[in-house]
Amino acid sequence: SQFILGLTGGIGSGKTTVANLFAKKGITLVDADVIARDVVMPGTQGLAAIANHFGEGVLLPDGSLNRQALRERVFSAPGERLWLNGLLHPIIRSEMLDAAKKATSEYVILVVPLLFENGLDRLVDRTLVVDVEPSRQISRTARRDGVSEAQVANILASQISRDERLAKADDVINNNTDNKEDFAGLESQVTALHQRYLQLAASKKQ
Ligand code: ATP
Repeated sequence: SQFILGLTGGIGSGKTTVANLFAKKGITLVDADVIARDVVMPGTQGLAAIANHFGEGVLLPDGSLNRQALRERVFSAPGERLWLNGLLHPIIRSEMLDAAKKATSEYVILVVPLLFENGLDRLVDRTLVVDVEPSRQISRTARRDGVSEAQVANILASQISRDERLAKADDVINNNTDNKEDFAGLESQVTALHQRYLQLAASKKQ
């Protein structure tokens, strides 16, 4: 079966930036955030189960999910949050694996922000962490999203620590250098890893 790489990193570490460099080499990306949105689109079993459990109050007039309302329902209700994760996580996991199986590139990358937090590292052959100093992570994300550094710091505190993430990583990309638009410093690291993954994918096939 397909060689699967799990790509992760903290908020604003540069996952998307790095993933796009692999995509430029022809590697298929499976994005957990995209799949997480797809599985609650109108007409899905996921959305039907959510509406059934929480009531019509978590739907917008057009029948789509009211994310804000759902967030409020689970915010200070750990049991409800557990219920929601218990519903959605298995669906997201199997959709990701399905998408990976369909990919025809030499190997496939699952891009998963909470790869280790949610135990999805068990589904992949190898893990790649995009590493960045917290101060850079915070300033880049605040600038990108137009939010305060304090808000980003809060999200950062809800994720596993930089040290824990690095300890679990098979491979690490260093994204501490401030690059211009061309991301040349990242590109050379991606190229070296790509060669390695092509070899690993070829030996897995045998
Ligand atoms: P999130 O977890 O929020 O989805 P992410 O890990 O996908 O974020 P990116 O969106 O790739 O991170 O990067 C965060 C921001 O930092 C973006 O605006 C990106 O352009 C910028 N950035 C990433 N790497 C660098 C770099 N080496 N030099 C300068 N800016 C960078």
